[in-house]
Amino acid sequence: MSITPPSRDSSQVSPAEGADGEMRGGVHMTRSRELELLHETHNDIALALDMHAMLTVTSIDGTFLEVNDYFARATGYSPEHLIGSKFRMLTSDHHPPEFWNDFWETVKRGEVWQGEMCTRTADGGACWMYSTSVPMFDGHDTPQRFMNILNDITVVREAEAKIRKIAYTDPLTGLANRAAMIDQISGCDVDEETEACALITISLEDFQMLSDAFGYALGERLIEKAALRLQALDLKPDLLARTDSDVFGLVFHRVGGTPDEAADRAEVIANKIMAELNQGLILDGGATLQPAMRVGYGVSSQARKLGGAAVLNQADTARHRSLSSRGMQRPVRFSIEMMEEIQRSVNTVLDLRKAVTNREFRLHRQPIVDVDGEPISYELLLRWEHPERGLVPPNEFIPLAEQSGQILEIGDWVVEEACRNLAKRREDPHVRNLPLSINVSEYQLRVGSFVDRVRASLEKYDVRPSLLCVEVTETLLHVDIDRSIAQLEELRDLGVKISLDDFGTGFSSLSYLQRLPVHEVKIDRSFISALEHDDSQMKFVQGIVKLAHMLGLSTVAEGVENEAQFHRLRSMGTDSFQGYVFGKPEPI
Ligand code: C2E
Ligand code: CA
Ligand code: CA
Repeated sequence: MSITPPSRDSSQVSPAEGADGEMRGGVHMTRSRELELLHETHNDIALALDMHAMLTVTSIDGTFLEVNDYFARATGYSPEHLIGSKFRMLTSDHHPPEFWNDFWETVKRGEVWQGEMCTRTADGGACWMYSTSVPMFDGHDTPQRFMNILNDITVVREAEAKIRKIAYTDPLTGLANRAAMIDQISGCDVDEETEACALITISLEDFQMLSDAFGYALGERLIEKAALRLQALDLKPDLLARTDSDVFGLVFHRVGGTPDEAADRAEVIANKIMAELNQGLILDGGATLQPAMRVGYGVSSQARKLGGAAVLNQADTARHRSLSSRGMQRPVRFSIEMMEEIQRSVNTVLDLRKAVTNREFRLHRQPIVDVDGEPISYELLLRWEHPERGLVPPNEFIPLAEQSGQILEIGDWVVEEACRNLAKRREDPHVRNLPLSINVSEYQLRVGSFVDRVRASLEKYDVRPSLLCVEVTETLLHVDIDRSIAQLEELRDLGVKISLDDFGTGFSSLSYLQRLPVHEVKIDRSFISALEHDDSQMKFVQGIVKLAHMLGLSTVAEGVENEAQFHRLRSMGTDSFQGYVFGKPEPI
């Protein structure tokens, strides 16, 4: 339907005016015809509106004066019932009182109000309407009535609710998901003085292993069973959610008491959960699995301020610290120190990036001596001269460099420096034949092209390969053993010596000792320090020395700190020694 715009006063329009004059079928209209048309047009607009939208006219005190059928149908009342009734009968308690106050104040001020409102229908249901409420002045200074033009948006709202439900639900367990948990925590409004919100997260450490070994479906069964058990526990959390593939979370909005008291209560709940899951999960086929878990919890009286993601992150941080061993776990409470530690680690990783280019690394050397106490080689130990922190020991940055992959670059530098030093030492007759040992992380052998680097550096500085010794630990046996062993064999074939560091601290040592192409074992410091007062340690060290000799390997005792230890070790047949009693690590 087209709507003709109302004409201006046509009595002043003469036929000669042509284009400006109002023409209908080539005939000039009379004033009465024009009014008739205008009236028709208004009726058309009203009809169009009537078909398109719900309409009401309401007195300024909220009494329905007119309603169209469309509106009446949507509310479930007859027009007769509505007219004369108050608008109030339709207001639902979905909106807070402030919402309705704003509505009334706006129209009474004579301004247009626009927005979505949820109205209550005759059968108690909800009808969502988008309303444009236009005040009508009827020639007065203040509005006398107002017209509502309303669109039924219930279908849209229902669809939105469905989408929201899908977006907030974990399809596997039907529990809420991570997004829902974050929202839930963010909305957690507590009295900071007397209450806190408590969050517990539990991860099932077997999920990944089961999925990898037996297929995803079995891992999923485990999660489903655990979800059922958590629901059956009936702990009445404000929300129970699956926050990650193998992680569940429970939030309790308002746990009373000081944060410490709230934490105690959270710990009690966490222990209940662990005890329940520790009874074992019965998988299809009847097999019972006692899951390894990690449980972390945190309490916050400022969950709203911090935001749900941050609070969830806190509980997860604590959870990562929790021991994961079957049957003997303890839940771990989040503390702010954990965050500080993480922050320090992040800063360290960022600083490490610049350390190689800024030439902040140094190598110290520590002598390794023979039975007469004479140096027969030196171990090179890495130090980081941090511009603010001073000399940083390797234990504080090597694990992080390994995690971030930066160890590859650092390790390359160590190889290069070792070879450069060996070349320089050729001029000194006292040390020219003494090898240098470098420490190599398992990660370097597993990921990098370590052997190529060693070969290139040896060639560059024209160094005899037998002057270089590479110290590796048993951790290289943890993943991709075959590649690591192949790399070691290549090194051995080059003529480089290989030493097995920290020997005795791993579990797989004995069975793999034969497979590894090593020349010597370094007996870990922890056994040496216990030598004097522990007979069983004596026997253990003696056993290592004998075993090594049987396999044709030489032995080094690490961390020898006094003469008594030295004599004992020597009497057991240990070949060489390293420790403070012979010399501390010193700058080259
Ligand atoms: P490690 O290879 O077992 O090195 C021996 C550690 O024991 C050194 O600590 C050394 O200073 C210390 N030590 C030596 N004698 C004694 C002693 O008599 N008593 C005691 N209590 N300690 C002694 P440092 O230099 O802090 O190195 C720690 C670890 O860092 C090394 O353990 C090694 O695993 C790693 N590391 C050092 N340099 C490098 C490197 O260049 N690359 C890699 N990947 N790791 C390195
Ligand atoms: Ca070492
Ligand atoms: Ca060692």
